[in-house]
Amino acid sequence: MKIPFQRLAAAADPAARRAVERVLASGRFVLGPEVEAFERAFAGAIGVGHAVGVASGTDAITLALAAAGIGPGDRVLTAAFSTGYTALGIRHAGAIPVFGDVEPESLCLDAAAAARALETQDIRAVVPVHIFGNAGAGWEKLLETAARHGVPVIEDACQAHGARFSGRALGSFGRAAAFSFYPTKNLGALGDAGLVATADERLAARVKSLRSGGQDQRHHHVAPGWNSRLDEIQAAVLNERLPGLLEGNRRRAALGRRYRELLDGLPLRFVTPGPGVEGSSHLFVIRTARRDALREHLAGAGIDALVHYPAALTEQPAFSGASGVAGTCPEAEAAAREVLSLPLHPGLPEKELERVAAAVREFFARGPFPARVSE
Ligand SMILES: *Cc1c(COP(=O)(O)O)cnc(C)c1O
Repeated sequence: MKIPFQRLAAAADPAARRAVERVLASGRFVLGPEVEAFERAFAGAIGVGHAVGVASGTDAITLALAAAGIGPGDRVLTAAFSTGYTALGIRHAGAIPVFGDVEPESLCLDAAAAARALETQDIRAVVPVHIFGNAGAGWEKLLETAARHGVPVIEDACQAHGARFSGRALGSFGRAAAFSFYPTKNLGALGDAGLVATADERLAARVKSLRSGGQDQRHHHVAPGWNSRLDEIQAAVLNERLPGLLEGNRRRAALGRRYRELLDGLPLRFVTPGPGVEGSSHLFVIRTARRDALREHLAGAGIDALVHYPAALTEQPAFSGASGVAGTCPEAEAAAREVLSLPLHPGLPEKELERVAAAVREFFARGPFPARVSE
């Protein structure tokens, strides 16, 4: 029997059905009461004053930066290990992404690398990425350093729904944070959706204007904004699903602990959220120098393991010209060769998890072992 990476079919999800029916009956399809209710609920859930729904996580990064005054030619520091969409979000604001290397344990932006970039370059904003729902060992240091340089932090919290550091929600530390509700995220819609969270009322008002074409009132454009409105259907589904977020995260965390028990002692490393961080357990990620062979072995056993991400942002052709070249962020680039995400979702049956772990053990039992696992 096959073990898929995730199970997203919502045909049997009565809450999603209820949400869609509600919107069909309402005749309001874009930026209506469901969006407003979701914005209030999500802001409350992470403990900030304001949340503004937008069309995607990528747009959330772009609009948050633009609302913070970042524009054409500004250099924006981000982590070299992320999805390309992080850098695209920066580029779409007109800014130039600059990549900093990551901590090998959490794969989050390294505070020392960030400090070096802030000291030597004219960086106008920092976009740390809570990759896999992590924050890293240097999270506080990073915030301090950015504050000392007077540079706003816009958190890429697209994988960090419900995650906390020292009891406080990730996405509530920076000037603003970007969330995505792409269907595979811990809180997912039935299509694209995103949100900007912020404690800053004026920044929230600017994002609201920018998502609606830069209008300050109907048919009056005061800035060249975007069309990044959030649909009522997506917001309605999110309203139904938000109350289950933390339960889903707890289930993910419990499954992650079980994987660690079962994989204990193997020549592989786990990616970890950081001290004091209660991560979102968005993915369960292991590192091995024999990643490609392991992935093939699992595929042969009917197990779908994925690579997030096979290249560092320094290695992406779209960005490498703008901000340096491959080879400048060795930790991020090494991670891209070694990471493998094992199947994980709140509904993953324990039996399936045990089969995945057994297949991983079998792979390493067969050898050949690498000379040594990289540090
Ligand atoms: C998903 C994701 C994005 C982009 O969000 P979209 O909704 O797909 O545009 C950006 N950054 C990270 C870390 C993500 O996981």
